[in-house]
Amino acid sequence: MTVAVVLFTADLRLHDHPPLRAALASSDEIVPLFVRDSAIEAAGFGAPNRLAFLADCLRDLDAGLRERGGRLVIRSGDVAEEVGRIVSETGAADVHLAAGVSAYARRREERLRAALASGGQRLHVHDGVVTAVAPGAVTPAASDHFAVFTPYFRRWSAQRVRETFAAPRAVRVPDGPGSEAVPARSAVSGVSEGLAEGGERQARTRFTAWRRHGLAAYEEGHDDLSGDATSRLSPHLHFGTLSPVELVHRARTVEGAGAEAFVRQLCWREFHHQVLAARPAAARQDYRTRHDHWRSETDAAEDIEAWRQGRTGYPVVDAAMRQLRHEGWMHNRGRLLTAGFLTKTLYVDWRIGARHFLDLLVDGDVANNQLNWQWMAGTGTDSRPNRVLNPVIQAKRYDPDGSYVRRWVPELAEVSGSAVHEPWKLRRSGRDRPDYPEPVVGLADGLSRFRRARGLD
Ligand code: FAD
Repeated sequence: MTVAVVLFTADLRLHDHPPLRAALASSDEIVPLFVRDSAIEAAGFGAPNRLAFLADCLRDLDAGLRERGGRLVIRSGDVAEEVGRIVSETGAADVHLAAGVSAYARRREERLRAALASGGQRLHVHDGVVTAVAPGAVTPAASDHFAVFTPYFRRWSAQRVRETFAAPRAVRVPDGPGSEAVPARSAVSGVSEGLAEGGERQARTRFTAWRRHGLAAYEEGHDDLSGDATSRLSPHLHFGTLSPVELVHRARTVEGAGAEAFVRQLCWREFHHQVLAARPAAARQDYRTRHDHWRSETDAAEDIEAWRQGRTGYPVVDAAMRQLRHEGWMHNRGRLLTAGFLTKTLYVDWRIGARHFLDLLVDGDVANNQLNWQWMAGTGTDSRPNRVLNPVIQAKRYDPDGSYVRRWVPELAEVSGSAVHEPWKLRRSGRDRPDYPEPVVGLADGLSRFRRARGLD
């Protein structure tokens, strides 16, 4: 009887899962294993919203395996030690794992490989699980990664993406290895009230409905804050309850600008993954330094707190920050605006904002979060690093009737028309004063501070 371990990480699904497929094809029994990794929680990555969503995903994965005759084995601790324990309990000869891109995921692979080699077991690391195109599979002539999106997108689009795999019909798991109880979302405290539900079933239902009803209008609607017309699939991509390979294939079967624009966004995710894979330090350090002397927690404590609480006095910024706190998710246009506001208008270190996002975002992801923050701070891959978004102009363009602001900033619910985006003007004209803060800084003052700091004036 041959046994293989499938170590699930950011790939909590049964459909289109190359490690699972390979293990089932080559062994009589498998151990589907998830290790609640103490190193990830110790590094501060165990934010309540993600832990709650993860609990849903594990419950659903376990249920899916049970329907097929198997079960999920859950352990807590050090990944290499726990895998070693399972291997010796079951006599497994092979361990299958999806390739990761972060520095941590790489170290995990190396530690596993070394630990298994000493016992004569083999580690199989599979590409095409977390991303459709493996980081490093396409590179420009003189570098190990693309630093500019458009040429990357061109090459990425021309890559052959592997076929998709069906979920297995049956899974045989040996009786031996014990499992901890599947964690419950209700056991996690500090979870956002409006947090979405996790799990592969939920993910597949959402994608199928959105593909049918939302995809065609994605191109024209994706920036509309109140329209909320994006897929909201980011947490599912982060936890791997959906396969990016499958999404690319299924979106490409739909004709039109909506599907094309959606595939392009999926490629942005892969672009950031290949940057991080080549430059792991970009998770913490400027990808391209602009020699900033950012304002820190001590220099700008009040401004930072106003930003975190959604009380900057700029309604669209505050609306987005409150959406983040309430849902553990924020619209992309809101992320661009709030990150631009913190780094350019308030001239605060991008790492402070990125940390706050990671504390709350259910899709909080090292590659996408840190590199998008750097994009907005002008220290990343943006070719216009000094551009500054004006939150009032942005609000009028992307929330023209103000309904996004009214939804999230109830203090302004009674303000009509686009005046909701400039409540300070209402005060000057002597009308009823909403109970809403004055702007933390004037936009012109913020802009000139930034331009001086960057040596542009
Ligand atoms: P859709 O518009 O439906 O797009 C489909 C998918 O494409 C998304 O689910 C996502 O996987 C991918 N995608 C879309 N835009 C981007 C982008 N700019 N960069 C990378 N991938 C993209 N995304 C995360 O998944 N995790 C994060 O931690 C994260 N942090 C961000 C921080 C900042 C400051 C900014 C500006 C953006 C961040 N993004 C992050 C990217 C983007 O905002 C979200 O992926 C998107 O809003 C998720 O909503 P959706 O699933 O409805 O996206």
